[in-house]
Amino acid sequence: MAAAVERAGLIIAGQQRQAKSGATFESIDPSTGRPLAVVAQAQAEDVDDAVAAAREAFDAGPWTSLKPAERARLLWKVAQLVRRDADDLATLESRDNGKPLRQSRTDVEVAARYFEFYAGVADKLMGHTIPLGPGFLDYTVREPIGVSGQIVPWNYPIQIGARGAAPALAAGCCVVMKPSSEAPLTALALARLGMEAGLPPGVLNVVPGRGGEAGERLASHPAIDQLTFTGSVPTGIHVMKLAADHVCPVVMELGGKSPNVVFADADLELTIPGVANAIFQNAGQTCSAGSRLLVERAVHDEVVDLLSHTARSMQLGPGVDDPDMGPVISKTQFEKILDYVETGRREGARVASGGRQAVDPALRAGYFVEPTLLDGVRPGMRVHDEEIFGPVLAITPFDGLDEVIRLANQTEYGLIAGVWTRDINKAMHLAGAIKSGQIYVNTYGAGGGVELPFGGYKKSGFGREKGLESLNSYLQTKNVCIKFG
Ligand code: NAD
Repeated sequence: MAAAVERAGLIIAGQQRQAKSGATFESIDPSTGRPLAVVAQAQAEDVDDAVAAAREAFDAGPWTSLKPAERARLLWKVAQLVRRDADDLATLESRDNGKPLRQSRTDVEVAARYFEFYAGVADKLMGHTIPLGPGFLDYTVREPIGVSGQIVPWNYPIQIGARGAAPALAAGCCVVMKPSSEAPLTALALARLGMEAGLPPGVLNVVPGRGGEAGERLASHPAIDQLTFTGSVPTGIHVMKLAADHVCPVVMELGGKSPNVVFADADLELTIPGVANAIFQNAGQTCSAGSRLLVERAVHDEVVDLLSHTARSMQLGPGVDDPDMGPVISKTQFEKILDYVETGRREGARVASGGRQAVDPALRAGYFVEPTLLDGVRPGMRVHDEEIFGPVLAITPFDGLDEVIRLANQTEYGLIAGVWTRDINKAMHLAGAIKSGQIYVNTYGAGGGVELPFGGYKKSGFGREKGLESLNSYLQTKNVCIKFG
């Protein structure tokens, strides 16, 4: 596989092809601001073709008639091919998305792990028998829900693509995936590897295109049976309404403003790199980024000094050069982030570090924002309440357990949270009191967390991805009750 993709087609029914209209868009390299690839732009008619191909593979086709163990073998083969091409895929992800090469390598490894993990469960999706007394046999069967539409954002294209596709395929579903037009290339590469692995035509289709066009068509398509959406809250709300019109169940993986809570007794040698990585990884463009730091007042100054030192020493550069931090995805995102920093200043926050475009003239053409610390942030400020989706950490001091619990829960989001302390009682107390779908203690993220159920409380969404729980979205339970004798 060549690292530099210049033209990429849609993947529909096991074929690579152009959009019927011939429409294309450019995928931009955010490290340089220059076009990286010309990509076929799916429109409604192409999405219709992809859904028809998935329907055929599900309703009449080979996918549902395969033995589960055979499905498992094919998924395992996809994982092997992802590993075979890991270097090329990681380079492609770094060019398309801008993230440092080592982060892309992790994403590719996690994508392979999703296919392995769900390959392992494809032949273990069992039902129950339910005791009704003499003369009855009652049992449940877990059947695939059908055709799954999957709308994927630009921040972790191959990882999130695999996170949705692998459990759906393991459950016996067929998939139509719409990656973001900001970074579609590794999702297409994944589908090509699926074809090479021997997935039958129509089982995994990928149709990059604009959200308002291809995304809307997919979400409102009457022939899909389920929709997994990962993206922002406003788009999620819109997509839910489209899906509601055809009573289509949805999984919503939305945004976050996740707190990292640092107590005075925390091991700072462990905590500082953990807190810095939680916000600066992928230039802060992570739904589960630890974008709020709640720090106990006794160690506030020390923690801010240490984090400022870390932020200032971070090297920025193009993703393929494997710097500490790459660019943000686009000019729009770049401007939005710098606007938020200005808003924070106006609201009374102090910029303890960063806050500007990167000063290195060699980086001026790309979308580089300095790793930024905003101190003295309080609830009610926009930089506290809203997801910035950039390398900006909002810092708030606290005194005591009651205050930190109140602060931790004081946004509309509830995706994940981190707690850093040597006191198991405090850790357990917060693990119970914080309203979010996942809590980490003295760690953050667990390198992808393939095995761990992941999803939101509150406006961070509903439904769970990853782990065994993800399979529930792609299976439906049928109950069979037999009277005999
Ligand atoms: P976005 O909502 O703008 O776009 C997400 C996807 O939806 C893209 O594929 C886009 O093309 C598509 N889309 C846009 N408008 C659409 C429409 N009208 N109809 C149908 N589809 C449409 O989000 P983004 O900017 O790509 O990603 C950033 C957001 O995603 C952040 O809020 C982040 O927190 C969230 N996110 C959440 C998770 C999670 O697992 N919870 C993971 C990654 C990102």
